[in-house]
Amino acid sequence: MTVRHRVGRLVVGGGIGGLTAALALARNGVPVHVLEQAPEFSEIGAGVQLAPNALRVLDRLGVLGDVLREAVRPPQAVLMSAVTGERITAIDFGAEFQAAYGHPYIVTHRSDLLAAILDACRAEPAITLETGRSVRSVRQDGDVAVAVCADGAEYRADALVGADGLWSAVRAHTIGDGDPAYIGDVAYRGTIPTAAISDRAGKDNMTWWIGPGLHLIQYPVRGGELFNQVAVFSADERGPAEEWGPPDELDRAFAATTGHVSEGVRLVNRDRRWVLRDRPPARAWSRGRATLLGDAAHPMAQYLAQGACQALEDAVVLADLLTAHGADVPAAFAAYEAERVPRTAEVQTWARRMGEIVHARGVTALLRDALLADRDARDFRYTDWLYDYRTDARPQAPASAG
Ligand SMILES: Cc1cc2nc3c(=O)[nH]c(=O)nc-3n(C[C@H](O)[C@H](O)[C@H](O)COP(=O)(O)OP(=O)(O)OC[C@H]3O[C@@H](n4cnc5c(N)ncnc54)[C@H](O)[C@@H]3O)c2cc1C
Repeated sequence: MTVRHRVGRLVVGGGIGGLTAALALARNGVPVHVLEQAPEFSEIGAGVQLAPNALRVLDRLGVLGDVLREAVRPPQAVLMSAVTGERITAIDFGAEFQAAYGHPYIVTHRSDLLAAILDACRAEPAITLETGRSVRSVRQDGDVAVAVCADGAEYRADALVGADGLWSAVRAHTIGDGDPAYIGDVAYRGTIPTAAISDRAGKDNMTWWIGPGLHLIQYPVRGGELFNQVAVFSADERGPAEEWGPPDELDRAFAATTGHVSEGVRLVNRDRRWVLRDRPPARAWSRGRATLLGDAAHPMAQYLAQGACQALEDAVVLADLLTAHGADVPAAFAAYEAERVPRTAEVQTWARRMGEIVHARGVTALLRDALLADRDARDFRYTDWLYDYRTDARPQAPASAG
């Protein structure tokens, strides 16, 4: 016999986006149920950069203090040549940056970020969390969205939010546009003890070493105790995609880089690699009583370090609109798409372009470096569109259980 559960608001996926959406709904007084496929809520052992647009969301939800406790505030983001070892340009994250955006730029361990959000969710009586629940499919049944789990159990919801990441089962129902696309790059990432790495570009900074078809990002996490590294390169597209970019190809790709970079790459975690994928922007994410957020809605290349930041923005906007529209869920989803589709489409598009800029070769790379050479580190004209986005520009929604 099929086990059926009736819930009002259902979030599928308990990653950064899904848990933040649940928290935002609960803070608005709306009860919400979360289904996570993994046996426990967890994140991979790597770092994440969070820009002021994300910190604004965490602040509003009351979890910023917890996040900042373990995070690092790098004084600068420094762009270095991975080939010559020379500095190309920098962004100063000091007092002027903070005055411009109202929040700092931070780097932290993904588990520390997730733990802060999860603790806040656990303290909210309006949130019910369930792990070990994998959603296989979604269907529309009149005014109800039905999530069907691997064991056949069904969750019937007035509003269902697919926050189930890159391989979203909910997206298969709402859009059904197949697999995400290969970017052509492979990433290796993870943390190492900070003491293991030499001091070249400043261990406090967020340093981005760039070269033809490759880059290495380095920054401290967990109060400086651990050092996060992300090595990315254009892979030879031979054989099945999930086998692209084996470790010997990683070493070959970085063979001609400066000593500090090749030393970092030698130490990068090699037990797992990510064949990077994204999607072109979609025009809409919703169908009936189901919608999407985060990577399920707009998976993007990581070159702007905004995937998680955009998931956080989505979460509060969606929660506010679901609260404000009460029982009229389709109206809430329409307003959510009107606000979030254009914003995330721009970020998705620029994330891809940023990849082309940092991985440029030959004359294009020379031109890039020459143009950036005289840039003022406190010139924020190019980051305003990204970091100055206000999810709180709309009047706060009144509390309603909808
Ligand atoms: C190399 C790399 C570096 C990055 N760096 C940054 C950065 O510095 N800053 C930044 O903002 N972003 C960064 N990103 C992007 C960021 O990691 C993602 O955008 C973000 O994690 C998306 O969060 P999410 O909650 O939408 O999805 P996920 O984190 O994928 O969470 C989805 C959750 O849903 C669960 N789930 C999946 N399927 C089901 C199912 N069928 N049923 C139930 N549960 C399910 C999963 O187990 C998971 O817990 C980076 C990405 C990569 C690849």
